[in-house]
Formats: sequence, C-alpha cells, structure tokens
Amino acid sequence: RWTSIDTYTMSHLHPSSRPNSAALTHTLQHSAARGLPDISCSSPAGKYLALQSRMLGVRHALEVGTLGGYSAIWLATENPAMSVTSIEYDATHAAVARQNIANAGVADRVKVLLGKGVDVLPRLYEEIESGQRERFGFAFIDADKLNNYTYFDWAVKMCVPRACVVVDNIVSKGKLAMAEEAEGNAMVRGARECVERVGRDKRVDATVLQTVGEKDYDGFLMAVVK
Ligand code: SAM
Repeated sequence: RWTSIDTYTMSHLHPSSRPNSAALTHTLQHSAARGLPDISCSSPAGKYLALQSRMLGVRHALEVGTLGGYSAIWLATENPAMSVTSIEYDATHAAVARQNIANAGVADRVKVLLGKGVDVLPRLYEEIESGQRERFGFAFIDADKLNNYTYFDWAVKMCVPRACVVVDNIVSKGKLAMAEEAEGNAMVRGARECVERVGRDKRVDATVLQTVGEKDYDGFLMAVVK
C-alpha cells in the first residue's frame, strides 16, 4: 500500500510528462544496468529535497553520497539556477552518475567529486574559507551512515544561516529507538550518534520525520542552521 500511494501521488504531482521525468527514469534504469545497488532516495523524497531547496532559494547545494546521481538530478533539474556539489568515493558510482547527469542536461551545474567524504569535505571548507567557493544553502547527507555526524558537522560549517541540512535513513525501520541494535549495526549506531549530537549542537535546530513508501519504513533528520 505504501508503494501504491507513492505511485498514485507521483503520477499526479510529478507525471511522466514533466521535462525531467525521462532523465530520472533513465538514471534509475542505467544505474541498475551498470550494477549499482537500488538504494537511491524514493521519487517523492527526491521531489521533497528539490522543493525544500527551491523554498529556500538555494544557489549551491552539497551532497555526500552520489550513487548514480538520482537525488542530485532531482535537485538540479527542479532548480535551474542551483549548483550541486556531490561527493562519492566509489569510482564506478561516480562514473555512472556523471553519465546520468550529462544525460539529464545538468553537467554544467552538477559536479561529482571523487573521494571519501572525510577527505573531500575539508578541501571544500578550505575553498570556502579562502573565498574560492560560495557557501551552501542546502546539504543532503546520504553516504556511509557511521560518519553521519562528521558530515553534518562539516556541512554546517560550510552553510549559510537558515540553510537546511537533511540526513537520510535515520529511522531504519524503527531500529533508531532500539539502543541494543546500535551494538552490532553501524547504520543504527551512526543514526543514533547523529540524532544525539545534533540535539546538543547549538548551531542548529532539528527534527526527525518518519516516512513510509516505496523504500519501506525509514525517515530523515532535517536541521536548520541558525
Ligand atoms: N544520494 C543518492 C540518491 O539518493 O540517489 C544515494 C546515495 S547511496 C544511499 C550512498 C552512496 O554513498 C553510495 O554510492 C556509496 O558508494 C557512497 N559512499 C559510501 N561511503 C562513502 C564515503 N565514505 N564517502 C563518500 N561516499 C560514500
């Protein structure tokens, strides 16, 4: 039922006649054909990220975790004036993403940086501090979950006031609230650490929204930079 609601609502709110629909479908199909895992965000979530950044009038978005570029393509194709800087450490994922991004016609505004988040983010920070790069108005954190808060921390350092930072896959079918799950599950440990540290972080105000849909039961953390 969750999936059928996604299918029904998106068929009306973002039908296949939209200019970016073919490119988004191609991205998923081409990514699957190249052997990438089926772990991109859902189509309603991609649309949500795009709408949220449009509401804020974002000029530059940051993403950690590109995969095949699906969420980055949602962001860029729905926000024609916005640039997206996306970090991916898997060379095959980055190569497939660049093809998908070119196919979507947004290669001039979406840059995939190859490398680990912990290595690339400090470099971006240096570029911002030295005036070579503008600050971000939106960040989507969707990579290795154990480093969630590390990425969140870098993102906040590089964002403008009132920027939005979204951290995906926080709820993990409800395991977030099960402290014993954190022992053997790095994803849950990363999610719990992120929620707890964001809660103590005076630079932001945040909430977690639980979601259901084609990607099962999950949820995301959404923070606003003060
Ligand atoms: N944001 C994408 C979307 O919605 O279309 C999905 C990203 S997928 C959930 C996570 C991606 O993070 C994978 O492509 C994985 O290779 C990448 N990743 C994992 N560890 C990483 C790291 N340390 N640094 C950068 N990327 C990493």
